[in-house]
Amino acid sequence: MTDRDAPRQLLGDSMHLKYSRQMLFAGIGEQGQQRLLASSAVVVGCGAIGGAAAALLVRAGVGRVRVVDRDFVEPSNLQRQTLFDEDDARTALPKAVAAERKLRAINNSVAVEGLVRDLHPGNAADLLSGCDLILDGTDNFETRFLINDYAVKSACPWIYAAAVASYGVTMTVRPGRTACLACLLESSPNGHGLEETCDTVGILGPVVSLIASLEAAEALKLLAGREQALHGRLISSDVWSGHFQSVRVAQNPACRACARRNFSYLQGQAQPHITLCGRDSVQIHERGRTLDLGALRVRLAATVSDVRHNEFLLCFRAEPYQMTIFADGRAILKGTKDPAIARSLYARYIGA
Ligand SMILES: [Zn+2]
Repeated sequence: MTDRDAPRQLLGDSMHLKYSRQMLFAGIGEQGQQRLLASSAVVVGCGAIGGAAAALLVRAGVGRVRVVDRDFVEPSNLQRQTLFDEDDARTALPKAVAAERKLRAINNSVAVEGLVRDLHPGNAADLLSGCDLILDGTDNFETRFLINDYAVKSACPWIYAAAVASYGVTMTVRPGRTACLACLLESSPNGHGLEETCDTVGILGPVVSLIASLEAAEALKLLAGREQALHGRLISSDVWSGHFQSVRVAQNPACRACARRNFSYLQGQAQPHITLCGRDSVQIHERGRTLDLGALRVRLAATVSDVRHNEFLLCFRAEPYQMTIFADGRAILKGTKDPAIARSLYARYIGA
């Protein structure tokens, strides 16, 4: 037997073929591949960065990949959210459902689980536990600090990743070994940085791919047991100006989260009933009830326009607003930032 044949003894032929080029890379090898196949990751938010990172992990053969997302696919997503297509937008599929279908089609050896859920303090342990690594695909700091609290408390590594306009950042957090997100952002007088959002200053597809690739590479190192290869730095880059920067971030000895273990985001107050999500949108949180979306469609048909409905959600226009209702009673209203208007629209069309 030659050296080239040797790995076939450990991995089955089809797996060997599928991952042959990745195993040839010295940093992974067959042992690294076996560890990837036995590993698991949860991606929170599967829009732009999360969707691209999830696809890279699934192609690489990470054994179990869970994606959690609260939103549905819209035409304005397709310019940068590479997991989705025109059909997904036309049928307003939840992103977690569309992502699960695409990811399974990409690699059927991976156990992919798509969950249409909004991550909050009450369900964080449910949605994030049982995985070796958490990847940030979210679009807001409230959720990132919640992930950071959960990860630090439970000693689970996670990877922060964010992008707006042509600029993005990423940093791997290994609780107890590296700085955490609170070390990085809460000690700075400038607060969270990146206060702009894709809804206000836009975003370029290429910076999404870049940041997702950096995030996925760190994930492969961690999941393949190659911790020595982690770069341990905050990387920021701007694909428009060509500016790239990589800096070491020190642990803050007085950090709220990793030093004082005050997990205020995780302990959270009870989930508020209504929160802002993006520019000109509000979310009304799930009410622990099950709606009959088909019956609701029939009831609304005469009073609203542009009604679309699938097994997961119902969306319609009631000018100047657009409403999307999920089967658990959760709703996203576009066209207002005013909680009172949102509450009144919800009561009018869905019931209080
Ligand atoms: Zn910290």
